[in-house]
Amino acid sequence: MALAIVTTRAGVGLEAPEVLVEVHLSNGLPGLTLVGLPETAVRESRERVRSALLNAGFDFPTTRRITVNLAPADLPKEGGRFDLPIALGILVASEQIPVSALEGLECLGELALDGRLRPINGALPVALAAQAAGRRLLLPAANANEAALAEGLQVLPVEHLGQVVAHLLGRESIAPHRLAMPALPEGPSEDLADVRGQHQARRALEVAAAGGHNLLFAGPPGTGKTMLASRLPGILPPLSHDEAREVAAIRSVCGLGLLERWGERPFRSPHHTASGVALVGGGSKPRPGEISLAHHGVLFLDELPQFDRGVLEVMREPLESGRIHIARASHQRCFPASFQLVAAMNPCPCGHLGDPRKSCVCTPAQVQRYQSRLSGPLLDRIDLQVEVPALPADQLTSPAGGESSATVRERVLAARRRQQGRGALNARLPGRELETACALSQAERAWLADVLTRLKLSARAYHRVLRVALTLADLAGEARPSRAQLMEAIGYRQLDRLRGTSMTGREIA
Ligand SMILES: [Zn+2]
Repeated sequence: MALAIVTTRAGVGLEAPEVLVEVHLSNGLPGLTLVGLPETAVRESRERVRSALLNAGFDFPTTRRITVNLAPADLPKEGGRFDLPIALGILVASEQIPVSALEGLECLGELALDGRLRPINGALPVALAAQAAGRRLLLPAANANEAALAEGLQVLPVEHLGQVVAHLLGRESIAPHRLAMPALPEGPSEDLADVRGQHQARRALEVAAAGGHNLLFAGPPGTGKTMLASRLPGILPPLSHDEAREVAAIRSVCGLGLLERWGERPFRSPHHTASGVALVGGGSKPRPGEISLAHHGVLFLDELPQFDRGVLEVMREPLESGRIHIARASHQRCFPASFQLVAAMNPCPCGHLGDPRKSCVCTPAQVQRYQSRLSGPLLDRIDLQVEVPALPADQLTSPAGGESSATVRERVLAARRRQQGRGALNARLPGRELETACALSQAERAWLADVLTRLKLSARAYHRVLRVALTLADLAGEARPSRAQLMEAIGYRQLDRLRGTSMTGREIA
């Protein structure tokens, strides 16, 4: 038997498709040939596998021709994860371990020259796929906790090639790894009770959480915009185990730790200088970006006007569909990116327009240019725009002591229960369903149109206002929005008013 087949998995985006490592020993010119689209790291694995086998005390068949094929050939393959399957394939093909030892088993891991196993990225997607295939998974011990998040999978953690072989020969048994499933966190790590004042901003945060609305805070530096935004995950509903696993799978592929953040709703706050690839994902071997790391959680963009406009435009797709497609010449990837956007901005370049503590040094032209940097289509996807003013001195020194996140979350959960019958959160409710749910009378509609016109708000603002008003009604436990709730909702279009009428023509068209 000079042919061996070992089952392993590639990492393609968030997927882990099966790869068969076929090893054939023949009597040709001695040497080791790797075929099946191996990239540089895989080619280097030739040297690592040889050293690891020799240093672990096994025979490396130096007098035979070794052909290793990674199938299917059209799948991109990267990293050192194929070292272990290649080494085991050589050991089976050269009859140092029996074929039967590999039955029902998948394995992967990078080998050090002395035969020790190094961890790989993306172990969780591999584990989920192995579990679905009904096989056991043998992988580096450092990845064992992560892999064990795939419930019901038998995970065999290994430190060294010698230990793997001893196990497969039945000389020394490896105990399957046990991980007590981490409990989902009880409460948020950052609490709204720590925030001083800012009643309108706190209210907007609650409305955003209740209806799934995107939110923009505008105000001078140092007024707590970041502090407020970071409290949004803590008032959203807790993650389910399935959602927690999806979040963990993305972190796994990005090589980030899983267990310390297990069950927390993500909060990602990339800097405005971050590259497009870092933000939305991509690269020659496409990886998820910040918007995918924020999946099921919150993406916070501080100083929104400073972000590259092109990158912000790309975010329109995930804001609509909850996923991002990344096209490359050779392949296309789709990553989940269903996040809630919270953005913040200063009112002007110096940051102090309207600030009683310090006067603004910007010219009106500078202010206008700064505010017009915001993309209209992106702003159209932000239902709530709220001013976060500088606090009066007496509020700065007063104790924080507002409502706790737990109290606010109860109201958010109740409001979300009211939305269940509609099929979507209010932020994503299609126009027709929205109109039906709000059930405005002819007179109310005329009144609202009149108010919007007098405030110089665009026609597009009409649906935004309805959406938010419906969430206000849900929070109040009422069937449909009242005039007071419509007025409150209009109050959350502050930036539209700052931007004045310049956009109106385009938006109505
Ligand atoms: Zn200024």
